[in-house]
Amino acid sequence: MSAEKFSGYKGEVLEVVRRVDVEIGDLIRITKGGQVFEGILIPRSEYGDDKHIVIKLRSGYNIGVRLTPDAKVEKVGKGEKPAFVAPPLPEQNPALPKVSIISTGGTIASRVDYRTGAVRPALTASDLYSVVPELADIARIDAQILFSLYSENITPAHWTKMAKTVAEKIEEGVDGVVIAHGTDTMGYSAAALSFALQNLPVPVVFVGSQRSADRPSSDAATNLTGAVLAAAKAPFAEVAVAMHATVSDKAIAVHRGTRVRKCHTSRRDAFKTINAQPIAKIEENHIVMLTDDYKKRDPSQKLTVKPNFSEEVALIKFYPGMNPAVIDWYVDNGYKAIVLEGTGLGHVANSLFQPIKRAVDNGVLVAMASQCIWGRVNMSVYDTGRDLLALGVIPLEDMLAETATVKLIWIFGQTSNAEEAKKLLKTNIAGEFSERSIYGEEETSKP
Ligand code: ASP
Repeated sequence: MSAEKFSGYKGEVLEVVRRVDVEIGDLIRITKGGQVFEGILIPRSEYGDDKHIVIKLRSGYNIGVRLTPDAKVEKVGKGEKPAFVAPPLPEQNPALPKVSIISTGGTIASRVDYRTGAVRPALTASDLYSVVPELADIARIDAQILFSLYSENITPAHWTKMAKTVAEKIEEGVDGVVIAHGTDTMGYSAAALSFALQNLPVPVVFVGSQRSADRPSSDAATNLTGAVLAAAKAPFAEVAVAMHATVSDKAIAVHRGTRVRKCHTSRRDAFKTINAQPIAKIEENHIVMLTDDYKKRDPSQKLTVKPNFSEEVALIKFYPGMNPAVIDWYVDNGYKAIVLEGTGLGHVANSLFQPIKRAVDNGVLVAMASQCIWGRVNMSVYDTGRDLLALGVIPLEDMLAETATVKLIWIFGQTSNAEEAKKLLKTNIAGEFSERSIYGEEETSKP
């Protein structure tokens, strides 16, 4: 019996489930203390206890029934296996551009089985293509699954694999690449690939969805169509993220990979470009460029792949009363860089000055971003900022703290020389910061 049939059940409960020969999706009856509970056996979290059986009642509610020695469990009926059969692939038009879709997982590559409540990474990348047949009018698609991961489980080692896989596709001569990715850490992966893939000849477009493809309110198809269109035809050759621009299906915003942040837990327009304008928007299948400051598509460009990362970089958010010894811990554990997410213009309490000095004296690169998210750090306004500058803290201009962290993870994958690392940090490699803020841009890029 495969583990999936009993997903999440263990110990005593698993024994009972096995004994009565029920699987996830089967109809079961539990009789206990004069009460009868009937419903479909649904999966449990792997962190759940070994005392409860969870069933979905006819009413649609899920309940956990504790298995006491007097409880009787019976199988009432066999569950129908959820059957998803992908429609046949539409015919490919040889005159269209070629786009490669690489799937890494997340909601966009998941299906919910509403009967049991399970979310499964069951859609292959070619399923994605076949359930959105309009894609056949935009591009010839080649699709592959690289990972089936929720993006909270993606690490720098996965960024390396993604970068290398994209590079292979570009070597093969595709006109653009789409990476289907969970939304939670899509901004981090997009930043990582922005640094790892230099001199891109064609666009690399990340896409996700806030609601899975089998829900009527899903944003998966519109986002995917926008991403494929951008990969196939956009005039830019950068790493970008394509997601809903508004809550309606009217427009898709294309954000620069180093400037984008998930700013809402559930809205379709959760992704925003921070401290700049999105690169483009897509309306009624047309790409409208919103800036002329972008790297141009140019198939003759020779891609440079720098796919190495070092994990010895920390992102520390300051808060009132924070224990300064946190900084010491990172220094003592061999970290090479710390990004501080300070308050306002770039401040932390003076109780942190001593450990920051010790970090810098030990050769740890310490840099400052703002937890305000919008705006630029300016450490020359108040004494606190000036003191931190004097200690050797590097201000990160208007760079996102997450992007700065990814950049340092990438930098220390390229060099272990502190001076070279500083130089790279201060060099604008992939549009991650700007020299000056354009008045009012904060207003227009807010959610
Ligand atoms: N937690 C999921 C992920 O990031 C959410 C999503 O896919 O949107 O993979």
